[in-house]
Amino acid sequence: MYGYSGKILHIDLKTKKSWVETKPEEWYKIYIGGVSMASRLLWENIVPGCDPLDDGNPICFANGIFTGTPVPVGGKFGMASKSPLTGVIGDSLSGSWFSIALKRAGWDGVVLHNSCDKWTQLFIDDDRVQFNDATYLLGKGTFETEEAIREKLGDDQIRSCTIGPCGENLVRYANVTNDGRQLGRTGHGMLWGHKKLKAVSVRGTKGVTVFDPATLNQLSFDISKSAQGKDTEKYRVYGTATGLLAQNKSGVLPTRNFQEGVYEDAEMVSGEYLDKHHKVKVIACAQCPIACEQMSIVKTGEFAGAMTGIEYESLFANSSNLGINDMRCAIKLITIADQDGMDTVSMGVTIGYAMECFEKGVLTEKDFVCASHPEGFTLNFGDGDSAVKLAEMIRDREGIGNLMAEGVRIASKKIDEERGTDSWKWALHIKGLEPAGYDARSTKTFAVGLATGTRGGCHNRSAAYDPDLKGEVDRLTVDPTRGHVAAESEEYAAVYDTLPLCKFIRRSFTGKADRAGAWPAIAKLINATTGWDFDYDDVDLIGIRATNIKKAFNIREGWTQEDDELPWRWKHEPMTKGPGAGVVTTDEELEYLKQLYYKAKNWTEEGLIPKEYLIKLGMADVAEEIGV
Ligand code: SF4
Repeated sequence: MYGYSGKILHIDLKTKKSWVETKPEEWYKIYIGGVSMASRLLWENIVPGCDPLDDGNPICFANGIFTGTPVPVGGKFGMASKSPLTGVIGDSLSGSWFSIALKRAGWDGVVLHNSCDKWTQLFIDDDRVQFNDATYLLGKGTFETEEAIREKLGDDQIRSCTIGPCGENLVRYANVTNDGRQLGRTGHGMLWGHKKLKAVSVRGTKGVTVFDPATLNQLSFDISKSAQGKDTEKYRVYGTATGLLAQNKSGVLPTRNFQEGVYEDAEMVSGEYLDKHHKVKVIACAQCPIACEQMSIVKTGEFAGAMTGIEYESLFANSSNLGINDMRCAIKLITIADQDGMDTVSMGVTIGYAMECFEKGVLTEKDFVCASHPEGFTLNFGDGDSAVKLAEMIRDREGIGNLMAEGVRIASKKIDEERGTDSWKWALHIKGLEPAGYDARSTKTFAVGLATGTRGGCHNRSAAYDPDLKGEVDRLTVDPTRGHVAAESEEYAAVYDTLPLCKFIRRSFTGKADRAGAWPAIAKLINATTGWDFDYDDVDLIGIRATNIKKAFNIREGWTQEDDELPWRWKHEPMTKGPGAGVVTTDEELEYLKQLYYKAKNWTEEGLIPKEYLIKLGMADVAEEIGV
């Protein structure tokens, strides 16, 4: 087989035994790699119905089809487990050198079963698996841990996925980090911490064999050249943070815990401001000619020296969403999350929830008393110093940080039960996942994309904000086309997440971010890598299959259509400013949109997947278990 080794490595963390599973080429043609293959490995290896923190929940890695080849932005991998934050599928993507090392070690995927009995640094050294004591790494941040491992093992080519103190302390939205990149959103770091797995390191010394190296080189060269042109300029110069002012203008920039979509001080926390006052340099993932990561530093004040990469999602969550107009505080907050290993969006949205609780009298100064802050403190919107204090308390699970480390769904339930309050109404989450940086009251196609999203409130899995914000549909109303628009946006994103290719290259094939230009070009890349005969329709099927295997997983774990829900605020509280003022997505509209979406997906009215359809997709065994 070309492009793949055909081998999946299984490791039992409890018995320290490992074994190799070979997969037929047909299996690869269906699941390809990235989030789709990781989700399929999870489907095959989890004990169905287990608690996310049970030993029956494995950690599944799946490499990319283009990883280790010259294909630009193809050095990525996926990871999947049942999420401890949401209880449904937790599928994440990351890029860079770890994936290349794994490919060179000869593994298309890795499945980690059970738990370690003591803190472990797992080392996959080509074919050899080693369990190393991780005691010396405890308390170290994510980046620091990677360096410490390289130093200890005496090889700067060793690449690691690590957790920081947040994972060790079981923050429910802790991340796993590699090469400065995060497997973010659904709390993988908590699961790793629970399994006492501090790091997975890889050294790969083998090659990657492709079917037609000359053609692949030429195609890759052409796309790389195009990827350095005007279509990616905004990412290269300002990074994704440049979107902040655009979202503000559209009235969808989450402000003060999603109360409004227009922030009066947006200029002060914009990508342009960041570029002028804080940017140090840009860096790139491995295999990337674009380089969008804006490394930014705080130069003055009490947070001087804080430095990390800043992108839009981290920035909105820790600036406008908290009413914070001091970029130095936003950088400090994001630095804490990145270095100590927690999700920047979930952390920012959770702090926003706590701020609103404080302003509405649900929480008081006394609630913030702890060993580090014996007098407690106030937590108003705009108070960056207090936000930083709370972020540190979350990391350490100290005082009320212990509750906020659970995410807004659990925190609000507990607070409301104890105090008889209604704070769940401003606890923004979808299936337990705090949403990304687009207010969905006035982006109604995106609203149904988020509500039905298999991993919860995620802009990466549903790209439906694009047609809304580009004016391809009337985003303030609903109509019968929206089911298709939402389904197609999701499947479009899933193609990129499965190969995986970074979505920022999507305009570099033909200048337009559409299927017509990209799918034939991607088919050529797949064929030159594998020797297969993929065409437009085969590429299209990649996304359809990816979304179905993830949905099938959720169905087997107990999903019902009541889970496809939006936060109360988006259905009942209109904003007062901007183009979306006065608009909500009502219950009736959401039900209508869900039905349109299920139909567009070829599912039943209940949102279940017909057997025949799964069989048609090549998933007969899945059909047997959950098909109707
Ligand atoms: S464009 Fe940015 S996120 Fe995408 S591969 Fe390049 S550096 Fe990584």
